[in-house]
Amino acid sequence: MDHSKILTQQKNYIASKESNSIQDRIELLKKLKSYIEAHEKEILDALYADFKKSHFEGYATELLVTYKEINLFIKKLKKWSKPKKVTPTLFNFPSSDYIYHQAWGQVLVIAPWNYPFQLAINPVLAAIACGNSVILKPSELTPHTAKILEQVVHAVFPKEIAYVIQGGVDTSTYLLEQKWDYIFFTGSVPVGKIVAKAAAEHLTPTTLELGGKNPCIVDETADIEIAAKRIVWGKLINAGQTCIAPDYILVQKKVKEKLVKLLIQEIEASYTKHVDQSPDYPRIVNEKNFERLAKMLSAEQLLYGGDINERDLYISPTLIDEPKLESASMKDEIFGPILPILSYTDFDEAEQIIHHYPHPLSLFIFSENTSRAKQWMKQFKFGGGIINDTIVHFVNDRLPFGGVGNSGVGQYHGKHSFETFTRKKPVLHRKTWIDLPFRYPPYENKLALLKRVKGWLT
Ligand code: NAD
Repeated sequence: MDHSKILTQQKNYIASKESNSIQDRIELLKKLKSYIEAHEKEILDALYADFKKSHFEGYATELLVTYKEINLFIKKLKKWSKPKKVTPTLFNFPSSDYIYHQAWGQVLVIAPWNYPFQLAINPVLAAIACGNSVILKPSELTPHTAKILEQVVHAVFPKEIAYVIQGGVDTSTYLLEQKWDYIFFTGSVPVGKIVAKAAAEHLTPTTLELGGKNPCIVDETADIEIAAKRIVWGKLINAGQTCIAPDYILVQKKVKEKLVKLLIQEIEASYTKHVDQSPDYPRIVNEKNFERLAKMLSAEQLLYGGDINERDLYISPTLIDEPKLESASMKDEIFGPILPILSYTDFDEAEQIIHHYPHPLSLFIFSENTSRAKQWMKQFKFGGGIINDTIVHFVNDRLPFGGVGNSGVGQYHGKHSFETFTRKKPVLHRKTWIDLPFRYPPYENKLALLKRVKGWLT
């Protein structure tokens, strides 16, 4: 299919002066909210059809965050968009100095499958609110949600403002060959590097929301009961297919046995002993990912689980005992309901394991030793961290969300999304009622004066 026409149409629209006002954009956001509200059931059904995500999880992790983001932009867009006056310098006296916020222009959003609705629509709505036009390419692995995303975007936005192009790698490759003003990508590290290379060709700025191996440390002072509850919840929501989920546990040897016992107890309290029959437990998204995860289980010592059913793409919650760092489960991000448990005796040992991997997207520490926990939070490099819980930092849009190093480039959510989808443009307004001669040649004896007043000038 030839997409060049729509790309040109958007380009022309952005280049023309008719791009919509802040009030127009607020109206579009209101329309988006009403449309989603009116089609909630279809969206939740699509998520269930794609990988048996329960309506509760669909609502909590996809719709709720979307509503929150829309409401925030409706409320704050005018305020955020105002040029911000900054203190002028004496050197430029008299002047008024401002930071304007300017939309980048034409934005490409490439989305993943794991939270297929919110990870697509949230960057789209933020980009549009900021005055950009957007092409969205949803993931081909969640076709039901991709279809409803197209329906939502095409019903709410004129196509010169937002348009959905469906497809897989070929479509993505074609889109990445085009020139964009900004690319917002969420997905895996290897594809993130492909996106970064394509963007470099046109020097296009990017946000790359990627993944990593997220450590979850449990020390000997931790409240183990609470830790077990919060780890199981954060790990098994979306069947572990969450970029910020705990990837592996590092537990102090003394408390390992207790933690394992309570983790198993919590898994069964949440999903019963027959997890495959629980209406709340999602499936693995496709065969390729199922096979990748199933391979991690062979030749490992399991503490719990290990049940698989290929026809149903089901993998039960599984705890692996002390895997080697070279084993399949410890090589790359797991992205599934498998949780390796490694024990340590002293912090140096735990630290070495964490440093064995590139900077993760998140890091969790369960500890009642607050000064030690805070010290670890300071010391390690990671996207976002939590003391005594897992994954919930994404709920607070006042906290910027994104990775560092291999786990990503750039941040978004709430006001941080506004900052991502606009460029800060400095504008200085000099006044003409006076023109001090100091800066102009001939400089003669001005150097001595310059040195004397240097502290006040800038
Ligand atoms: P993916 O990288 O395979 O795919 C993401 C998108 O890129 C899809 O739309 C896909 O069609 C496209 N794509 C795939 N291969 C491509 C190629 N060769 N060239 C161009 N485009 C290509 O990722 P995924 O499997 O959809 O999602 C899982 C990954 O995403 C995990 O690594 C996870 O950690 C990460 N993730 C990160 C965040 C975050 O916010 N940081 C959120 C969700 C998922």
